[in-house]
Amino acid sequence: MLNMANDPEPFSEKLRVPEALTFDDVLLRPRESTVEPDEADTSTMVSRNVRLNLPVLTAAMDTVTEGDMAIAVARHGGLGVLHRNMPVEATVAEVERVKRADELVIRDVVTASPDQTVREVDDMMNQEGVSGAPVVNEDGEVLGIISGTDIRPYLEVGDRDKVHEAMTDEVITAREDVTPRNALELMYEHKIERVPLVDDENRLLGLITMAGILQRREYDMASRDEDGHLRVGVAVGPSETDRARAADEAGADILFIDCAHAHNRSVIEDARSIKREVDADVVVGNIGTREAAAAVVDFADGVKVGIGPGSICTTRVVTGAGMPQISAIAQVADVASQHDVPVIADGGIRYSGDAIKAIGAGADAVMLGSYFAGTDEAPGRVITMQGKKYKQYRGMGSVGAMKSGGGDRYLKDEQEDDELVPEGVEAATPYKGTLESELHQLVGGMQSGMGYVGAESLPEFKRRAEFVRVSSAGQQEGHPHDVVITDEAPNYSPDGQ
Ligand code: 5GP
Repeated sequence: MLNMANDPEPFSEKLRVPEALTFDDVLLRPRESTVEPDEADTSTMVSRNVRLNLPVLTAAMDTVTEGDMAIAVARHGGLGVLHRNMPVEATVAEVERVKRADELVIRDVVTASPDQTVREVDDMMNQEGVSGAPVVNEDGEVLGIISGTDIRPYLEVGDRDKVHEAMTDEVITAREDVTPRNALELMYEHKIERVPLVDDENRLLGLITMAGILQRREYDMASRDEDGHLRVGVAVGPSETDRARAADEAGADILFIDCAHAHNRSVIEDARSIKREVDADVVVGNIGTREAAAAVVDFADGVKVGIGPGSICTTRVVTGAGMPQISAIAQVADVASQHDVPVIADGGIRYSGDAIKAIGAGADAVMLGSYFAGTDEAPGRVITMQGKKYKQYRGMGSVGAMKSGGGDRYLKDEQEDDELVPEGVEAATPYKGTLESELHQLVGGMQSGMGYVGAESLPEFKRRAEFVRVSSAGQQEGHPHDVVITDEAPNYSPDGQ
């Protein structure tokens, strides 16, 4: 049909287009600095009520974040977002696993009864993987404590002797509100490794161990909630009220409304009603424009930006729609920052430089998938192809992931395989070793970026960051060139893997 008088604007006007840029199009302009990179403070708000020491999240993908990844990244100061290609009960179990991981007080204590034989208790402790157990009577009162050293054969304790004959019956106990410091002092003073916590009637409430206290000291950057448990995020579909409620009750800190295009009226209504029902913060995503941000800032505790920048993503080629990522971040941040709503840049980050550029353009934190998919903590096995080690990495909109339950992220109903219209691919990514070393490279690079701009903290960095535009010649100049690379750098490969 011809464009008639009721629409006076000629079609050719549509092609007078605004420019939208991505990471490689810009560089941070160096500025005078007094900042030592190692000292640059990377703490940030990731949602209205959650602060992290590192501005880094691991993607809610079934080849990136389950409990192991969530525990590891939270211990080092970031946040893992559990994917949702699993039954609701599994989500609850994973949230509980993260929350229990660095628990100071063990509630689920393995106990012995005084009439068990030494052999039975020894077997039980081996099975449960503990090296000692409080001995309690039927009323739960603590009578003693038995440990490996009490029952070693050289102490001439027979297999059939009863626990009450072999246990140490002078037990040092403490009250539930004991501080870690006092518990540790008790342990040093009495040369013991565990202290049962008891109530007024000497009934067992929990156990505090030296290993637990020391482990907690080791992770001094960890992301912890008010009770000292590790923080965890959970992806929920816009209409997954059940998962949202269950994850919230299990103690999830942030729910991430997980949708490829959240600027959709029914998605926003669903997100709004989830927000009304839960205590956790609710981050809404993904979006990529000012208007989308304006539509959610009145209730969202955070927004997540990314329409098609992901490494495994085919949204832009399949649908013809998308927003180059650094422009998308800046546009969303224009609106969100006016309402104190944190912005998370999700997808397309290959190098630490991309991550700090994202923050310069207005993001408060970054979410990465491919960067972490090759680490030990990501789900899946290491595979070897032509002598090199890889791990599987696939888009949540790929055929494989949608078949295991992730299709509604792309606003699709359940369909037969050959009717699926995927928006992602299944791939492999080089195996990279521990998350800790990857995170170290990522955050170290970001801190150096803060040094070049002369900013001691992320808010200051956001204020001071200025960008210059890079030509394609400039881009070439920015990567190693005119040499043959002989050794891999831990934080660089030509294709960003
Ligand atoms: P990466 O860090 O690998 O570049 O991007 C990870 C992000 O890509 C995820 O956090 C998620 O937002 C997005 N993503 C994951 N799977 C898919 C997919 O199949 N299609 C699209 N369009 N995006 C995906």
